[in-house]
Amino acid sequence: MFEESTLKEDIKSLRELQAIDIQVLNIDEEMAASTAELEKRETTIEERKTTIATLADRIEGADVRRRELEAEIEDSVDRIKDRQTKLMNVQTNREYQSLLKEIDEIKKGNKQKEDEVVRLMEQVEVLKVSQEEQSTLCEAEEKLLNEELARIKKANKTLNSEKTKILKSRDAKAKKVKAGALRKYDILREKRNGMAVVRVSRGVCHGCYMNLPPQLYNELMKEEKLLTCPTCNRMIFYMAEED
Ligand SMILES: [Zn+2]
Repeated sequence: MFEESTLKEDIKSLRELQAIDIQVLNIDEEMAASTAELEKRETTIEERKTTIATLADRIEGADVRRRELEAEIEDSVDRIKDRQTKLMNVQTNREYQSLLKEIDEIKKGNKQKEDEVVRLMEQVEVLKVSQEEQSTLCEAEEKLLNEELARIKKANKTLNSEKTKILKSRDAKAKKVKAGALRKYDILREKRNGMAVVRVSRGVCHGCYMNLPPQLYNELMKEEKLLTCPTCNRMIFYMAEED
């Protein structure tokens, strides 16, 4: 003959089940927090790598431009020599003046290009310092990430085996709860952030922190029926003291 459990026993089983489920919830939250932390670190590293790549592009661009200018300067040396040779064979003063003006303009152009070359070299130097700094940071961050990965992998292994153990004891505990109450408990847990059974002390529901109507509170203290909070719907039990 099946022995009907008393309300006190039912509440006790539900409370124990709730305590187990909170443990599971805490483990899940801890693992989720670790994953979020790792993802954050990975994002930072990805952003750093993008910065490094952008710096490399800018250095490359400046170098290309500098080489172009240097080639142009070299070409112009030949152009100046050519004009100087022509100078020796000119027939008119007008031609002479025109060649002198041309030489002068090439030289002026070269001066500007040389200044630009110096500016580009200085720019590359600054960019390289920044690139070096970013690379050093990136290396340190990657090292730290790998250390964290190893640590979290190890911690998760422990947490998972702990969780498996807890879930086994949960199964045993759940069997002690009447089917109807268990169904209600599971639905509430789903809807109320994992908290389905809460204590009431000094007339206050510890699920929603609202006051219970005095009549309901009196009824609850008698411990004759499984009651629910009228505000948050959670299953409630009476507990005289805060602890
Ligand atoms: Zn409540």
